[in-house]
Amino acid sequence: MSDDNRRVHCERHGLKRPAFVCKHLVSGAGLGFVEPSGEQDPEASDEQAAWCDRCEGARLAGGGWTPASEAAAGISLICSDCFEAARARNSRWTAVSRRWGYS
Ligand SMILES: [Zn+2]
Ligand SMILES: [Zn+2]
Repeated sequence: MSDDNRRVHCERHGLKRPAFVCKHLVSGAGLGFVEPSGEQDPEASDEQAAWCDRCEGARLAGGGWTPASEAAAGISLICSDCFEAARARNSRWTAVSRRWGYS
């Protein structure tokens, strides 16, 4: 039951906790970063997951994940550090404030 030792081996960060994002967030930037809130599958509740604005639109249009919206999202397994990096790149507010801050 308490098998909480799942790890993903990341080439950049080594052994980390797994996280899931849509394929757009893996390498994209400024796409929006939607994290699920509210009801979740208890089996997966300790794993982070996020997807971009476009996938959120498809999910809402389908009344939840459908085979079609899941296929379009192409949910990918990444490490928790990469997840934080994806959040930093894709959160609109962060991207905007960084641009202002650095230039
Ligand atoms: Zn997406
Ligand atoms: Zn990583």
